[in-house]
Amino acid sequence: ENPIKYVEIPQTTLKGKIWTGELICKDKFGHDIWYKSIIFPKKDINGVIVGYGAKRQDITDRKIAELQSITDGLTNLYNKRFFKQIFSSERNRAKKNKKNLVLLMLDIDNFKKYNDMYGHFEGDKALKKVASIIRSNAERANDFGFRLGGEEFAIITSNLFTDKIMKYSQKIRESIFNQKIIHKDNLDIGFLSVSIGVFNLEIKDSYCCDEIYKFVDIALYKAKNLGRNKVVIYD
Ligand code: GH3
Ligand code: MG
Ligand code: MG
Repeated sequence: ENPIKYVEIPQTTLKGKIWTGELICKDKFGHDIWYKSIIFPKKDINGVIVGYGAKRQDITDRKIAELQSITDGLTNLYNKRFFKQIFSSERNRAKKNKKNLVLLMLDIDNFKKYNDMYGHFEGDKALKKVASIIRSNAERANDFGFRLGGEEFAIITSNLFTDKIMKYSQKIRESIFNQKIIHKDNLDIGFLSVSIGVFNLEIKDSYCCDEIYKFVDIALYKAKNLGRNKVVIYD
């Protein structure tokens, strides 16, 4: 999500007010630099705005540390800590905006056996591949992709109408399967696959986060029991 509200700057300062916020820029090497900025109108003795002044402070180090604390080191997806934070704030936002909120929980099938057969290095490579597919399917504003730990991933989205949820989830399951990463020990599936549990929090619902985690877990468990490489939406 973009933290910078560019439109706010002229709107605020045109009204003669001070704008404060964080801005991201590039240095000459193309690296991100974060500034904490203050933009203020300059007025003449009659109070008419005649220009603008700005002050800024480099807060890049702090921003990098903040980003690291919410990022999973192996896959660069958001981590479990951030998941909890985002899930609760997105839940509140969805309620306020009268929108449904969808939670997908993804778990790689028979991944212990994959590690046993192909080794930890190949296991890590597979985790990164799965992460990249999750990332490319969670790239709109208000989509978030996470690695919760081990071989468990999650997606939070508030961009999905109820009738599109199955299609979206199946597309992700399928594109992971379609990588055709050989996994001989994955029962009769033969390739690396994921099971996906889904919960759709509708506008009328008022479940708390822990209840929703439980529902999505039940759905995931069902997907595993149906033979893995499946999607189950909780109902
Ligand atoms: P299921 O289909 O029921 O989910 O079976 P599973 O084997 O995937 O589930 P289980 O929870 O028994 O095993 C998860 C395995 O994931 C255990 C461990 O070998 C592997 N794993 C967890 N974290 C990592 C990691 O960071 N790298 C690698 N290579 N493997 C990991
Ligand atoms: Mg697991
Ligand atoms: Mg698993």
